[in-house]
Amino acid sequence: MYSSWCRSQESATKHCHMAATLFQKVWDAHTVRMLPSGQTQLFVGLHLVHEVTTPQAFDMMRQHGWTVAFPERTFATVDHIVPTSSQKRPFLDMMAEEMMTALERNCRDAGIKLWAPDSENQGIVHVIGPELGLTQPGMIIACGDSHTSTHGALGAIAFGIGTSQVRDVLASQCLALDPLKVRRIEISGRLGRGVYAKDVILTIIRRLGVHGGVGFAYEYGGSTIDQMTIDERMTICNMSIEGGARIGYVNPDDTTFTFLRGRQFAPAGDAFDRAVAWWRAMATDADATYDDRVAFDASVIEPTVTWGINPGQSVAVNEPIDAAPGDEALAFMGFKTGTRVQGTRIDVAFIGSCTNGRLSDLEEAARVVRGHHVAPHVKALIVPGSQAVRRAAEARGLHEVFIDAGFEWRGAGCSMCLGMNPDQLEGRQISASSSNRNFKGRQGSPTGRTLLMSPAMVAAAAIAGEIVDVREVLEGVPA
Ligand code: SF4
Repeated sequence: MYSSWCRSQESATKHCHMAATLFQKVWDAHTVRMLPSGQTQLFVGLHLVHEVTTPQAFDMMRQHGWTVAFPERTFATVDHIVPTSSQKRPFLDMMAEEMMTALERNCRDAGIKLWAPDSENQGIVHVIGPELGLTQPGMIIACGDSHTSTHGALGAIAFGIGTSQVRDVLASQCLALDPLKVRRIEISGRLGRGVYAKDVILTIIRRLGVHGGVGFAYEYGGSTIDQMTIDERMTICNMSIEGGARIGYVNPDDTTFTFLRGRQFAPAGDAFDRAVAWWRAMATDADATYDDRVAFDASVIEPTVTWGINPGQSVAVNEPIDAAPGDEALAFMGFKTGTRVQGTRIDVAFIGSCTNGRLSDLEEAARVVRGHHVAPHVKALIVPGSQAVRRAAEARGLHEVFIDAGFEWRGAGCSMCLGMNPDQLEGRQISASSSNRNFKGRQGSPTGRTLLMSPAMVAAAAIAGEIVDVREVLEGVPA
């Protein structure tokens, strides 16, 4: 049976006398033993699997004659390589078809639940985990993908692992890890209209740096986070890794419990109430101490856009770029120091990804788009993060808003976030993207240029044909 795991409830309660962070409590509750290397052997409650980082891990398992230790704690989906225009099998790209077939075979042989494109729950691994209620507070969650930090939005300790670690978790459900320090990131105040969770996390990464979180788990809190939905918290936690923090989390609260109630894999009935009591106990104690604390004022954050080749190189949309002349990123992107990103002509608009491909993201984008049309020179894609998101959006008629406006309405997958599928930039194209990485070549073209921003900003750019300040667009739109 699928359920939260910890060595004993005692682990959770022993901190009654010793204030601790959620990170420490979850770590202790899942510690199997201390290893001679000084690392901790941790039990992994949930292992999420996708097609890209697992074929070699399963091959290694086969070579050793090992079987999957806990198939009931392992769930698979396909996301990176699936085409989003048609998901009919066989895929036209033979490499993608081979990866899909390998995942199907590996999951069938091991007794692992797989959501393939012909199932109703397929989608990006970090979208479907929370959506199905697999992701729960107080868990250790591992996945062969760096944006696994997303699941921390529900109070889990979740992190990406490499292929050899995927093998380790498949074989033993355990991992050997070094503990992390915990940095509390306090965000207080009200976000202005047209300013979103994406702007908050881009601002955090800009200030703390893309390596600022190395060695830390980020605990996000404060009044801004308290008022955020789980979707918004997921956007924040998702990009923790872009700031160097392998883990980002928000303490579970009533918003978390309301989100989870009734979801397919969440506890039901009395078990749910018992789970809530345990989940509450795992939250950071009020008098816990942190290794570091940083504070942000949300009320001064503005719509933010990247200008460079890492997610820390960002500015407010109307702020001059302050990089040194000759900077590599400026040269690659074609910007000049002292100029603004606002007014930059775009070729492609992409709304999707595990950062911003959820229903609320599409709703906000539709609010901007309604009654307008995509600029003639822009190719604009809406790619729901999961089939469930796509169905929910269609039930609300959002697809009609987008299609009427000239967007392409696609199937669920990673799409142009990474370009490991037919959705790719061409040549030097500039893309306004709601995803999480703007590295050189990220969207499929080695010379393509990616500007990261909120889905509403992408929608506004698609309509205008250039980067604009979404606050101006929203002026005429009812709140
Ligand atoms: S949407 Fe992008 S970042 Fe997220 S899992 Fe897919 S490729 Fe990775």
